[in-house]
Amino acid sequence: MERIFLKPSEGRLKNHADALTFQSGLCIEALQSPRSQGKIGGFARGFQQKTLRMEEIMSEVFNVEEIFAKNVFTLGKMQQRLTRNAYKEVVKVMNEGGELSMNTANIVAKAMKDWAVENGATHYTHWFQPLTGITAEKHDAFVSHPDELGKMLTEFSGKELIKGEPDASSFPSGGLRATFEARGYTAWDITSPAFLKESGCGTILCIPTAFCSYTGEALDKKTPLLRSMEALSEQALRIVRLFGNTGATKVTASVGPEQEYFLVDKDLYMKRTDLMFAGRTLFGAPAPKGQEMEDHYFGVIRERVGAYMKDLNEELWKLGVTAKTQHNEVAPAQHELAPIYETANIAVDHNQIVMETMKRVAVKHNMRCLLHEKPYAGVNGSGKHDNWSITTDNGVNLLDPGDTPNENVQFLLVLACIMRAVDRHADLLRQSASDVGNDHRLGANEAPPAIISIFLGEQLEDVVTQLIETGEATSVKEGGKLLTGVSTLPDFQKDATDRNRTSPFAFTGNKFEFRMVGSADSIASPNTTLNAIVAEAFCEAADILEKADNKELAIHDLIKKYMTEHQRIIFNGNGYSDEWVAEAERRGLPNIKSMIEAAGTLTTDKAVKLFEKFHIFTKVELESREEIIYETYAKSINIEALTMIDMAGKQIIPAVVRYTKVLADTVNAVKTAGADAATQDEMLQVVGEKLTAMQTALEKLKKAEKEASAMEDAKAQAFFYKDTVRAAMDELRAPADELEMIVDKEYWPIPTYGELMFEI
Ligand code: ADP
Ligand code: MG
Repeated sequence: MERIFLKPSEGRLKNHADALTFQSGLCIEALQSPRSQGKIGGFARGFQQKTLRMEEIMSEVFNVEEIFAKNVFTLGKMQQRLTRNAYKEVVKVMNEGGELSMNTANIVAKAMKDWAVENGATHYTHWFQPLTGITAEKHDAFVSHPDELGKMLTEFSGKELIKGEPDASSFPSGGLRATFEARGYTAWDITSPAFLKESGCGTILCIPTAFCSYTGEALDKKTPLLRSMEALSEQALRIVRLFGNTGATKVTASVGPEQEYFLVDKDLYMKRTDLMFAGRTLFGAPAPKGQEMEDHYFGVIRERVGAYMKDLNEELWKLGVTAKTQHNEVAPAQHELAPIYETANIAVDHNQIVMETMKRVAVKHNMRCLLHEKPYAGVNGSGKHDNWSITTDNGVNLLDPGDTPNENVQFLLVLACIMRAVDRHADLLRQSASDVGNDHRLGANEAPPAIISIFLGEQLEDVVTQLIETGEATSVKEGGKLLTGVSTLPDFQKDATDRNRTSPFAFTGNKFEFRMVGSADSIASPNTTLNAIVAEAFCEAADILEKADNKELAIHDLIKKYMTEHQRIIFNGNGYSDEWVAEAERRGLPNIKSMIEAAGTLTTDKAVKLFEKFHIFTKVELESREEIIYETYAKSINIEALTMIDMAGKQIIPAVVRYTKVLADTVNAVKTAGADAATQDEMLQVVGEKLTAMQTALEKLKKAEKEASAMEDAKAQAFFYKDTVRAAMDELRAPADELEMIVDKEYWPIPTYGELMFEI
């Protein structure tokens, strides 16, 4: 693709990306402007002299069908490139599990390498997802020994495809491995396709893998997810067989994650060490305008953001990610991208690709993408709605109620099991959606709350109530007609249920939408937990029902029993209200306020029993994960504290000191001139007081940070960071934000919220 490079300072492009593709709307706009006389050359004066005409530019507009999955080694490409038998074996292992023979692995590896090299790849990597929550890769070139004439033939064997052995010592293991026991293995996840990543490194063949230790413990997020998918499939099959579905051989969890993000101008970002190191602002007074006008949500997408989204989509489509929906979100400079749902492990991989690509493409547009859950105080944070459903391989979505859910007994049993699972393991679900940034969303004054509840909607709630009260659900509420009141508009059939945006776990038609998940987090844990807890409930139900003499009656009784026992988890009201917090407490529902308070839920007897029963985690693996949570939390808050200390000590306090000198000089000058300097004097006093408050808070934070970093016990340390260090951080921020409102803008050393959120 041809590119033209324009300095940000060039004319009208001042506020736009400095690297624009010819096909972007901006250049087309430039072409149309009288100044550029139909030629781009005039506009890009002093840079590359280009005279592309409009038609040429338009012909560069890509065709989605052509580029989709261009960089993916799809099943289709395997069909073309593999021998018939090898292809058949691959499909069989994908669908039924098992291992590829070494012979076939060699055939696949060669075909994959040839395709990758034809497309410019120089290296391959086993791409995996360690417990850092992001992805890891170590590149190996396809280079081999040259022959005696110096000729080198690229090589890639089946063994290299299937297994890798990165040095694992520097990844978090939560005590599973001492550093001298550094071996870790990566194993190819054949069900998630290999892809080519194009970046500054050139083109790299990425092979999605799972990552385990020498002793077989999972060191990543992928392995438990795959285990949970198998458990869910096995138990769900038992349920559908009760209803005579003998054709199904597999049940798959499908996931569609809606990804929220913020964009910020790179030059402004570079002036904020808090954004650079912590991913969120640690200081910042609110801008005069926030989101109160509700004018950003679904608003017209600004040119610069639009050009970014266009590039982002193109990159994602090439990688086989079905980027589908894009829109502005509630907060200024906040946006969302949602792909079409797919099999859980592929959705997890793709969501990692989405997050990576979002960041990469932002750089090209002279911006930065912020995935942090709460980059700015006072406006909405970012989450990731995890849409989840379960479907048999003969096409039955177990979460589809049909038009008459009251008669759909299989659906009602599935629903009853999910109610049981979510109620019993509300603590684990909440834990699965926790990360450091999400502590600012969950349970804070913005949604969703940290309390797990299920929203079913009017229609289903009514069915559940009938079942509980009478044992029968004889009627079903219908949607009725929506009257538009305009003769030229059609009246239409409403859904039977409205939506509820405040519920953390909402039934939305034929799926559940788990809304607690944080925007920066991997979606592996939430889906592992969901799969696991539902597998357990299915298993218990099947254990009872398979033995029953009168199956129909037993199913009926079990639905009633589960729904009655777990009714308390249903809540259709406003999840953001204080009344709900009180009501939830009365119902005995857990309200776990923070990531580290949630960590312990992983190792309760209940959790160990669940995860060990379905071979998803061993007790040791769970303990290690709990430990990693404490470590991660402590490290993250430590970075934030050090960043605040740095910014306060080196930027904000010195700037305020300079400003007080100006004020003091003014007071003196005004007094010398014989005028009244009361106002200036008062300003000087106020600034002086707040400066002192800042200095005192800074010293206190320094002390707390020192004390915290010296602590040895990970759990105690994490709690100290939460209770003491974070409190000291808040104390430092408060006077700084007040100062920002009164200090002359000329002196304020860092970009303001207004600039960060509105200058894009
Ligand atoms: P919204 O909830 O914002 O109205 P959609 O209904 O379009 O948006 O769905 C949001 C996400 O849910 C998308 O990623 C979509 O592909 C996914 N989704 C839709 N149906 C299902 C399903 N049956 N299972 C899992 N995810 C689904
Ligand atoms: Mg949604």
